[in-house]
Amino acid sequence: MRRILLIEPAYKNKYPPLGLMKISTYHKLKGDYVRFVKGCDPNIRKEKWNRIYISTLFTFYWSITLKTIRYYIRSVRVPSDVFVGGVMATLIGDDLEKETGVRVIRGLLDKPGILDEGNHCNIDYLIPDYQILQEIEYDYALKDAYLTYATRGCPNRCSFCAVHQIEPEFIHYVPIKKQIMGIDETYGQKQNLILMDNNVLASNQFERIINDICDIGFHKGAKLNGRMRIIDFNQGTDANYLTSEKMVLLAKTAIKPLRIAFDHIADKDLYISKIKLARDHGLLNLSNYVLYNYLDTPEDFYQRLRINVLLNEELGTQIYSFPMKYIPLDAKDRKYIGKNWNKKLIRGIQCILLVTRGLVTTRREFFEAAFGSTYEEFLKIVLMPEEYIIYRRKYENNGAFDWRSTYEKLSENEKNVFMTLISDNKVQKQVYSKTSSRKIKQLLTHYIIS
Ligand code: SF4
Repeated sequence: MRRILLIEPAYKNKYPPLGLMKISTYHKLKGDYVRFVKGCDPNIRKEKWNRIYISTLFTFYWSITLKTIRYYIRSVRVPSDVFVGGVMATLIGDDLEKETGVRVIRGLLDKPGILDEGNHCNIDYLIPDYQILQEIEYDYALKDAYLTYATRGCPNRCSFCAVHQIEPEFIHYVPIKKQIMGIDETYGQKQNLILMDNNVLASNQFERIINDICDIGFHKGAKLNGRMRIIDFNQGTDANYLTSEKMVLLAKTAIKPLRIAFDHIADKDLYISKIKLARDHGLLNLSNYVLYNYLDTPEDFYQRLRINVLLNEELGTQIYSFPMKYIPLDAKDRKYIGKNWNKKLIRGIQCILLVTRGLVTTRREFFEAAFGSTYEEFLKIVLMPEEYIIYRRKYENNGAFDWRSTYEKLSENEKNVFMTLISDNKVQKQVYSKTSSRKIKQLLTHYIIS
């Protein structure tokens, strides 16, 4: 019997670590002792383990991941007894190997013999071990859900997306029924179904997938223990593949929300037509991730959010937007600034989202209060000092009014100069010498005081 330790670094995560849960099943089937921990635990570190698995997420979690690996590396005989897999391991595994000497597992565990030579098990198809979630105090928000995939990969290759590196082959159909029934038998029924497919609509087996979803109890109106059940394609659906036939099929399920991607303002007409199609089929609860800080401009970002609230007003839909900041696929922190953006604009948006908890309201009046009713107003809001954005009411007549009336007196040229002076989001006294404009100097005073 081997002693196996599974670790997820201590970052926040609402999704249980599916890869580790399947590895746990794999080792338990082999009769091994398995333990799961979140983050660095001094008691666990003192023990000796035959093998340690560490999961990884985005590359910008580089520091915390590296710290976790180094923390446990002496708990095994040699560094190569530490197996590191997941998104970061796949994208920048060479760097991890060089820094730590661990064994990196790239991509999926979908071939026999990846973890132990000669073993015939396809770990990706195993039933995830929900039991390990009871071993830690950390509470995953989505622990009462089946987490699975009905397809793998994506036929597209969008430049900002890592899917073609992690799941290079597009698999049109993955049988989910057996896995769900296995979870029911071993761990009991789960309330919701999260399908993490990258591009499910591109599947030529889409109707079969929908039939599977309905068969396992996630048809429209489905309930469990008196509560509505929900299915969520949490990676979003691709508007390019969203035909009326597919919308009819989606509407048969308990989908909530339907997420339709809206990454580029150039896709506006296509996007609006698909929202109307969803409305026509009774799907009113909609959502999307709004990518920003990529090749878009701040104006394009604002317009995408505004289109959603105007559609809500016109169609009676509820489209929730989740702004998502673009970070390059190999970035080791979150500091990246897109070519049409600067630090102050990004921070301004984060300050608004701090108040709205990361969500853009569906109602126009609240949206306009938070983000402004025009792009010019939006720009005025995000350029204000942080306190004025976050504590809008407190500073309304106590600084913000003065700031606003001075800003409004600036010429277009002065506005550009002012934006450049604060673009780094660090305003120090020396900045006064960079302008002769009295109005700009007056505005800069607000930042230095704050
Ligand atoms: S369509 Fe979606 S999943 Fe596919 S490559 Fe583009 S962003 Fe990635």
